[in-house]
Amino acid sequence: MTELIPFDKRDGFIWLNGEFVEWQNAKLHVLTHGLHYASCVFEGERAYNGKIFKSDAHTNRLFKSAEILDIDIPFTKDEINSAKYLLMEKQKLKDCYFRAFAWRGSETLAIAAKNNSTNVAIAAWEWPSYFTLEQKRIGLKLDIAEWKRPSPECAPYAAKAAGLYMICTLSKHKAEKNGFHDALMADYRGYVSEATGANIFFVKNGTLHTPKPDCFLNGITRQTVIELAKSLNVPLVERHITFDELSQFEECFLTGSAAEITPVSQIKDISYKVGDLTMQFVTTYSDLVNDRF
Ligand code: PMP
Repeated sequence: MTELIPFDKRDGFIWLNGEFVEWQNAKLHVLTHGLHYASCVFEGERAYNGKIFKSDAHTNRLFKSAEILDIDIPFTKDEINSAKYLLMEKQKLKDCYFRAFAWRGSETLAIAAKNNSTNVAIAAWEWPSYFTLEQKRIGLKLDIAEWKRPSPECAPYAAKAAGLYMICTLSKHKAEKNGFHDALMADYRGYVSEATGANIFFVKNGTLHTPKPDCFLNGITRQTVIELAKSLNVPLVERHITFDELSQFEECFLTGSAAEITPVSQIKDISYKVGDLTMQFVTTYSDLVNDRF
């Protein structure tokens, strides 16, 4: 299985600064600003049957994330969009996951980095599911993380930026150690925010409830689910959700480009059913990304 081959030992090509480079030669110097100070922004997106789902939206977010981090990307959005398609062709892929990312180079290793170059790369590989098919069928078990999403005054939360994932990795490690698949994080005020790499939705009496993205990533899949809810006439409320409310919900699911729509069957010791409304969104999302909706 490709999953087991380390990422630096795979074959094929990576688009690096405008050229296709042999996969194993797409290397960085150890003294790179992006590595030392997390001056790196990235995208995770998927293609279904040769078509990248919301490619423009992902490219726009990559540029927005870079702008928030004061990083100039030396390519146009059109160049990045067409590079993704060229790469898919070169890699002979139709259903795949993409990482497009930009990071500051090695010219200086000072905190100030206005004179550093920006590198941009895109990699694509087959990645059928972020969670296993079994986990998707019976639902995920979520722990509650000890780390909280920082306030907007403490982190550039709207950027999909490498540095923001430090607490996600720590939370996911702890959750897995405790026998869970992932962790639900509170925000700095104690409200429910999101999982370590996906947004969250709840169901109560036929209505969807989801936290307001005022200090965490407003995911593209989250926005897609909100649009789908409108077209399916499913009522939806975006609001602050407290942890005390978790036991009142009937269903729960996560959303993300990698996770797609994955049911949640448990948060700590509260159980949820993998119910009809959740399954309706799983199916409709799959229809949408495969151009069947
Ligand atoms: N939150 C975090 C922290 C994420 O890493 C992701 C995945 N990119 C999401 C939410 C969902 O975002 P999207 O639907 O745009 O993939």
